[in-house]
Amino acid sequence: EEQRLRLPPWLKREIPTGKNFSKIKEQLRHLKLHTVCEEARCPNIGECWGGGEHGTQTATIMLLGDTCTRGCRFCSIKTSRAPPAPDSNEPINTAKAIASWGLDYIVLTSVDRDDLPDGGSNHFAETVREIKTRNKNILVECLVPDFRGDLNQVRTIVDSGLDVYAHNIETVEKLTPYVRDRRAKYRQSLFTLENAKNMNSDLITKSSIMLGLGETDEEIEATMKDLKAAKVDCVTLGQYMQPTKRHLKVVEYVTPAKFKHWEQVGQEMGFLYVASGPLVRSSYKAGEFFIASILK
Ligand code: SF4
Ligand code: SF4
Repeated sequence: EEQRLRLPPWLKREIPTGKNFSKIKEQLRHLKLHTVCEEARCPNIGECWGGGEHGTQTATIMLLGDTCTRGCRFCSIKTSRAPPAPDSNEPINTAKAIASWGLDYIVLTSVDRDDLPDGGSNHFAETVREIKTRNKNILVECLVPDFRGDLNQVRTIVDSGLDVYAHNIETVEKLTPYVRDRRAKYRQSLFTLENAKNMNSDLITKSSIMLGLGETDEEIEATMKDLKAAKVDCVTLGQYMQPTKRHLKVVEYVTPAKFKHWEQVGQEMGFLYVASGPLVRSSYKAGEFFIASILK
């Protein structure tokens, strides 16, 4: 077996603990919420939960269960053709918990639910409405599946009252069939993003690319151009990390300087904001960047 690449020093990072972070963690224990931040042991948790320059705290909540109907080769979430039915109390319970939590920006995401006739879109929308009823100032981002390109489902999300519509393209076109589940199509992802923007131009749209899977510079640039052409406002770029030995190997650890380069490329292309760095994840300091881009 070929040897695995060694982890470069810039990716060795301890999970920090700030004052805000421990306060939120304490509250979370009572709320019984499942955050991606904690469950994925995300290294950015101190920065996201602690708030940054603008003091905007961000967290990511997972809806619709822990079992996905798809199986992407970079993702460690468990897979089943028939996951358990969604918890119909989840939208209201999540909203109650978020209201008492006191965050500024919340990212709602989910596994893909191709087993549900509406792809889970109504469950998302209900959660957004329940959150906004309790706190209209909280900013809500939905990081959603491609809904198999079904624009009725896209519309359900767009009309829910959310602030940011996010869907991750994940990788360049050539590597898509190899990296993502075969039902996920590069053009289909662009199609849903562009249509979400067309349905409501006030929405901020957003997408993410993982680097280090063997893509070329030209392909990265082409993907950013495709996102721009699909009227995507914000783009994030981060390093792919292999979750277990059974998942795709890291082909390259992209240097911080190279990530900086992509940030400049994105800014020159005219994106509202670009977050690019080895540890950047699609929700990385999302609230901070949102506020900063509005104030720009
Ligand atoms: Fe993971 Fe999303 Fe792919 Fe499901 S669709 S396997 S949750 S990346
Ligand atoms: Fe949570 Fe996303 Fe921030 Fe990680 S990057 S701590 S998952 S909000």
